Amino acid sequence: MLIQDWKNRSASTQKEHHKFINRLKREKSKVLNERAERLHEEVFGELDCLDCANCCTSIPPIVNRADASRIAKHLGMKVARFGEEYLHQDEDGDMVMNTTPCPFLQSDNACLIYEVRPKACRKYPHTDNLEFADHLKLHQQNVMYCPAVFHIVERLMQI
Ligand code: SF4
Ligand code: SF4
Repeated sequence: MLIQDWKNRSASTQKEHHKFINRLKREKSKVLNERAERLHEEVFGELDCLDCANCCTSIPPIVNRADASRIAKHLGMKVARFGEEYLHQDEDGDMVMNTTPCPFLQSDNACLIYEVRPKACRKYPHTDNLEFADHLKLHQQNVMYCPAVFHIVERLMQI
């Protein structure tokens, strides 16, 4: 329901969301983060990432050195071999997964390396841990990629 609503409306509301998020820069971070934290719990209680997986399908996550060595160990591979097989450098110079959808995304939308997934995957979409206000620019893009961000922003607009 929330995912379908995002699919139906994210393109037509993008400009409105963009402007609203710009205005959030004037809000006190502490108050905004606390509101977002509450809405994060609410929205993720109503949607299941396993019904979505749009982030894993469309955004290659950054894989830092610690991630690479943890995942390689989990897969029983040498780090260098893991890098050759699964990573490449993006235009910003970051090492990221080399395919979209992610090579570890399975057909049921589960992550094959969930327990050892990259930090970027664990933190996405940066709407909890009282860090919402630190990522406003990112949220402006993510309303198009993540139904949870879309609905958190929609609900912030109602407050
Ligand atoms: S590593 Fe797992 S959580 Fe991260 S993008 Fe790939 S499938 Fe998704
Ligand atoms: S795009 Fe958002 S709602 Fe969809 S799987 Fe990723 S975090 Fe979950």
